Amino acid sequence: MRAVVFDAIEGQPEVRKVPEPSAPPGGVVVRVMATGMCRSDWHAWAGHDEITLPHVPGHELAGVIATVGTGVERWAVGDRVTVPFVCGCGRCEWCRTGQAQVCPDQQQPGFTHWGSFAELVPLHAADTNLVAIPDQVGFEAAAGLGCRFATAYRALAGRAGVTEGEWVTVIGAGGVGLSSVMIARALGGRVIAVDRNPAALAVAAELGAEHTLLASENVPAAVADLTGGGSHVSVDAVGGEQTCADAILSLRRRGRHVQVGLLPPVDGHPRVPMARVIGWELDVLGSHGMAAVDYPEMMALIAEGRLAPQRLIERTIGLTEAASLLPVFDTARVAGMTMIDPRLP
Ligand SMILES: [Zn+2]
Ligand SMILES: [Zn+2]
Repeated sequence: MRAVVFDAIEGQPEVRKVPEPSAPPGGVVVRVMATGMCRSDWHAWAGHDEITLPHVPGHELAGVIATVGTGVERWAVGDRVTVPFVCGCGRCEWCRTGQAQVCPDQQQPGFTHWGSFAELVPLHAADTNLVAIPDQVGFEAAAGLGCRFATAYRALAGRAGVTEGEWVTVIGAGGVGLSSVMIARALGGRVIAVDRNPAALAVAAELGAEHTLLASENVPAAVADLTGGGSHVSVDAVGGEQTCADAILSLRRRGRHVQVGLLPPVDGHPRVPMARVIGWELDVLGSHGMAAVDYPEMMALIAEGRLAPQRLIERTIGLTEAASLLPVFDTARVAGMTMIDPRLP
């Protein structure tokens, strides 16, 4: 099969023929129809995750089951499926209680094993992790769910518990940030979007952000002015010391911050304004994807058309373009999600 492969950390990825994967026990092989490119793929390429080389990235996928391994009960060849980027083991106490997103024995396609920038991808513990795609939801919309959209949904609905009329500051208007804007609106929130890229802010406004701010402004002061004292909920969808601090300092007293963007300790551990967290009794929450068992509520909103993740897709590219884009993806000025169709050259 064809796949995007890199042989060294920060090495040039290339499209190459590699052996087809076989289904692990309890798992499946999926023929990839769409797979999103995300900043996490860049982090793996840049050496911020433990990966084995050579490596195939890709963790936001949707496709059709091509092979079923031994012991799989719920799935058959030909089923249309997607998967959370965190695949639980299916056996531990966390998986058994519906919290596979924090499974200590988790697999992540594109990190712990070869991922979905390929024609085929193996997935583990299929009965725990696969999610059926309803007929009215397309592959591209479903692929966007596995990481950024589901993470944003869990961050706002499951972790922060956004309610009608609350102010929500979203820092970063890339894939997860724009997902957060759309979801916060659907939950009745009033959104302030922050980004360094005016084009991304224009998309955020189209998706329902009531106000937009350039990241170069004094974000906490501007949010306090717009909201009369700060927002109820903040999301750092970028993952930087400045964006994390701006998000926390934009909250009103007793507000809730959700950290979604990764803060890898490559530049030293980030300084977080903990004095404000204590003095104003702020809640600081982490959000790490979403377990397959929590998908139906979100999938129903998508099937009804109340959430439309396909609106976040900026463009679709083939594997060759994906290989050249990956090394510069952290600085690429994208306004929305980049989708890969592995059937394209
Ligand atoms: Zn587990
Ligand atoms: Zn991702």
